[in-house]
Amino acid sequence: MLTLAIIKPDAVKNRLTGKILAHLEADGFVVRAARLVKLTVAEAESFYEVHRARPFFRPLVTFMTSGPALALALERDDAVMRLRDVIGATDPAEAKPGTVRKLYAESKERNAIHASDSPENAAREVGFFFAERELRGL
Ligand code: GDP
Repeated sequence: MLTLAIIKPDAVKNRLTGKILAHLEADGFVVRAARLVKLTVAEAESFYEVHRARPFFRPLVTFMTSGPALALALERDDAVMRLRDVIGATDPAEAKPGTVRKLYAESKERNAIHASDSPENAAREVGFFFAERELRGL
């Protein structure tokens, strides 16, 4: 099963990409596809469409378009739920010890990593970044 992660612009800028990838691989995830992307405003708005009415929508779009981010299609059994566990709560102040956000996030907004929150959203979000031919693996 695949899920989508994005190592967000704060973590890429802070040169935490390698540490976060190592954390995920040590937890059993396999990288099936990866691309460094600088999202356009239209792309970030579309990706976070569900949050359009929230007060944090505009700052979130500004943050997510502020620099390169690393989109990852990750494979593992129970990948969606397992990745949510490994990244921790949205706000690093509330994330459990040892989670990616507890270790590497700056704030509730600049929180180092995105992970799909349901199998349906994982399918949509993997498709947002990757074509079928990029997911065939070796
Ligand atoms: P996630 O599934 O844990 O990433 O959280 P959500 O889907 O609720 O929110 C999407 C993203 O919006 C989060 O990862 C944060 O980057 C940002 N965000 C969420 N809630 C807040 C908030 O209350 N304030 C700010 N500034 N950003 C937020």
